[in-house]
Amino acid sequence: MTTRRYRIATIPGDGIGTEVIPAGQRAVEAVAARHGFAVAWDVYDWSCARYAETGRMMPEDGVDRVRGADAIYLGAVGAPGVPDHVSLWGLLIPLRRELDLYANVRPVKLIEGITSPLAGRGPEDIDFVVVRENVEGEYSEIGGRLHGGTEHEMVSQMSVFTRRCTDRIMDYAFELAKGRRGHVTSATKSNGIVHTMPFWDERFAAAAARHPGVETVQYHIDILTAYFVRNPDWFDVVVGSNLFGDILSDLGPAIAGSIGIAPSANLNPERAAASMFEPVHGSAPDIAGQGVANPIAAVWTAAMMLEHLGEDEAAAELMGAIEASLARPETRTRDLGGTADTDGSIRAVIEAIG
Ligand code: ATP
Ligand code: MG
Repeated sequence: MTTRRYRIATIPGDGIGTEVIPAGQRAVEAVAARHGFAVAWDVYDWSCARYAETGRMMPEDGVDRVRGADAIYLGAVGAPGVPDHVSLWGLLIPLRRELDLYANVRPVKLIEGITSPLAGRGPEDIDFVVVRENVEGEYSEIGGRLHGGTEHEMVSQMSVFTRRCTDRIMDYAFELAKGRRGHVTSATKSNGIVHTMPFWDERFAAAAARHPGVETVQYHIDILTAYFVRNPDWFDVVVGSNLFGDILSDLGPAIAGSIGIAPSANLNPERAAASMFEPVHGSAPDIAGQGVANPIAAVWTAAMMLEHLGEDEAAAELMGAIEASLARPETRTRDLGGTADTDGSIRAVIEAIG
């Protein structure tokens, strides 16, 4: 039997990123041999800590160093005293844009043993995926300020939606739905935003025509956020622009329990460059260095990475191990009401494998 080999560019980052990524690596190692593959971890120290020493989050050719990897596994970047725009523009945005990681994917699933903040208030079958357009839309640099400091001061900010990028994120969402329950919800606001959002709706309708058999519905973003809370069981795949998807992809994990378990992927679905996998949570300076961070988000993220690599069975086994470990109260971390530390939680996952 030949062993399949993957090169994973690994960026633990800052704070608890440096604690949960090694835990995730242990979980991957525990399934790799069982499924006939091996992983080479190329570890990079790109972080706010590095920025503090060198003035750069990553080297100038950083993006090119990881472009050809099989995947990128990122912890979290951010540190007290380093402004958010440094980690964003010094690392995350160059990676997303230059590797064209246009689909930001966040599964939202209520796992047994986790209490949703909605518990007892309505349906508890929460199992959907938020797909966010990750490279254009509202987050553009076009715009500016006029008459600064005067009573005539004015600012403008332009959103940019191209047919190419809108169509491809729609296609990604529809294809994803075909492997799930065959339903796509679009987040819009075409009653108030009269140029870009009607275009978004047109492209959604065109995608629906390209993908017959997938059920569709669209809601304005305001009522959609209310439905996330009141009727989370209505959703299968939810597609949104960069801004709306950003909002929904934080609200989603929030209703499914703890930020400590939520995974995400930044995908280049055509595989023209490495895709990037990162837990939703940040560097959590308040608990960093204590060994108590919940490693489950990093493990679930690793399972998404294995699925992307085509290692579906190993990914499913990791997910099963996550669910089995969370079902036992004593192996949950503090954020989930348990007493386990990072090491105890990851050992429970590894014990549950096979
Ligand atoms: P950043 O700016 O890096 O995103 P943040 O403070 O905005 O950091 P998080 O780092 O996600 O956001 O932290 C939010 C809260 O959730 C903190 O109280 C943190 O301790 C907690 N938290 C985040 N991730 C975890 C985890 N894996 N395990 C336990 N608690 C966590
Ligand atoms: Mg934050």
